[in-house]
Amino acid sequence: MLSFLHVVEQLLTPSIPVVLLGIVIIVGAPLLLHFILASSATYIESPAVILLGPSNAGKTALLTLFERGAKAAQTHTSQVVHSIELNASTDSLSKESFRNHHDTTGTHSKFRLIDTPGHGKLRPLAMENLSQSKMLKAIVFVVDAATLSEQEMLSPTATYLYDVLLFLQRRASAKSRKRGAAATPVLVAANKMDLFTALPAAMVKTRLEKELGRIRLSRSKRLLDSDADPDGLGVDEQETWLGDYASDEFCFEQLQEIGISVQVLPGSVTAEGADADTWWWWIAQRV
Ligand code: GDP
Repeated sequence: MLSFLHVVEQLLTPSIPVVLLGIVIIVGAPLLLHFILASSATYIESPAVILLGPSNAGKTALLTLFERGAKAAQTHTSQVVHSIELNASTDSLSKESFRNHHDTTGTHSKFRLIDTPGHGKLRPLAMENLSQSKMLKAIVFVVDAATLSEQEMLSPTATYLYDVLLFLQRRASAKSRKRGAAATPVLVAANKMDLFTALPAAMVKTRLEKELGRIRLSRSKRLLDSDADPDGLGVDEQETWLGDYASDEFCFEQLQEIGISVQVLPGSVTAEGADADTWWWWIAQRV
């Protein structure tokens, strides 16, 4: 008791050690708290699935549908990155529907679904989100299957997809050089299947592959024209060439060789009795 009083008395008596101790506590405590919180935030960060694709494809409608578990309301084209938390379960067939994502009785995985703006001017924001997303488990690239038969819609959609796949290809090869980490799988969600102009998923796949092949050829030609490299494939060209160097035509399976799986699955978001279970199931198996 006496020694306790002595310590208190010492602490309350102004002296250099006491003042120094006070400064250390005042400066050190917030710093320590910051480091503890920062490290625990990365620890508890849940897996992420990112929604990419051109404007008007149905990304926000899909996010709203999954969030509410019901028919999506009218949406506004997204200008900002918006993210929600969902639960996916692969326990049994009865739970594979997005309508059951509130049910957390079985084994479930919590994940973040991130919506990004599709407008060309805001695309750097989406790509930045893609490159900075920690715990990125999958990419859902939403396309409007009802307008892909028009070249003016197909071309920008494929250009965007090309940039996304090229980014993944570069990252996958950099990773495999380092430690063989798994590459991010891509779902091309062929949306608006309820509309009679919608192309079937198989045709969405072949159209996109053909257009991606055309883009890769024209990009490589542009590079060759600007670069006087007599040996053909220069380093820059390898960096912009998507898929197999030896192939004339592009197909998604070429990316499988570096571990990137691309699947095209049909669905619809705003139709009566929205048909998005196949996409939900695809996501549930990857988070
Ligand atoms: P975003 O720009 O990719 O986020 O696209 P939105 O989610 O804002 O959707 C654009 C428009 O397409 C909206 O008017 C939606 O109601 C509509 N839409 C989205 N999905 C479907 C669908 O599956 N079928 C039909 N018919 N319309 C859809």
